[in-house]
Amino acid sequence: MIEIKSIYKTYKLKVYRGLIKKYLNVKALDDFSLTINDGEIVALVGRSGCGKSTVGNAILKLIELDFGQIIIDDIDITSLHGYSQIYPIRRYLQGVFQNTSSSLNPKMKVEDIIAEPMRNYNLYSKDRIKRLLERVEIPVSYESRYPSQLSGGQRQRVAIARALALNPKFLVLDEITSNLDVITTNNIIELLRDLNSENNTTMLFITHDLALADKFCSRKIVMKEGKKVEEVKKLRLDHVSDEYTKELINSSF
Ligand code: ADP
Repeated sequence: MIEIKSIYKTYKLKVYRGLIKKYLNVKALDDFSLTINDGEIVALVGRSGCGKSTVGNAILKLIELDFGQIIIDDIDITSLHGYSQIYPIRRYLQGVFQNTSSSLNPKMKVEDIIAEPMRNYNLYSKDRIKRLLERVEIPVSYESRYPSQLSGGQRQRVAIARALALNPKFLVLDEITSNLDVITTNNIIELLRDLNSENNTTMLFITHDLALADKFCSRKIVMKEGKKVEEVKKLRLDHVSDEYTKELINSSF
């Protein structure tokens, strides 16, 4: 179970006015709370810039929060600092991101991309790489290809295989289908659904696509300006109460 308790994050943005350097405070999270139960697939939706990725990055320990706690299976991960404290938990928390050209190293072969997390934890297994490729439906013969030799959907499948390499309990999926066509998106969603029912993997699905959130996720959290606006079962006008959510629905369908 993941308990996000009243988290706050303000980024400091460096800006130049001529030769003078200044810092602007950008508030990304403002008293945001959320509980995700084991095996749940929860969507985080809202306009661009409302703080969705910041929540995902905080869970993955890619950023430090200003205040608040994130408790995962009774461990307060916000109190963990430095490589030696974070290393044991990172294994169970994995992320897949929108932009595979920055998240997959273009100089590494598919095989090495998937092997990297295993090597980090001394769990390398050639056989597991093969099984992971089969699981995400990438031909095993593609293991010696580079990311540039794959389609967008195949790259995202490789990113998913890498995220699964250590059998994580929790996946943050951040706009992973934004660059994919409808058929490829549906195939990836099917794959994730199967993974969820096979392994009970808990997932936070970050998206601006309300229809996809509705199709894939049992619960939807609507965010605005770093806050939770409401939590709904269906993103349909007759199921929501907040005006901002209604506006969001009206502008997307
Ligand atoms: P979303 O995922 O909903 O698009 P983000 O979490 O990426 O939103 O961003 C929330 C806010 O924080 C936005 O205003 C964004 O510009 C700002 N922000 C995100 N990352 C940084 C950063 N590294 N430095 C400065 N501002 C940032």
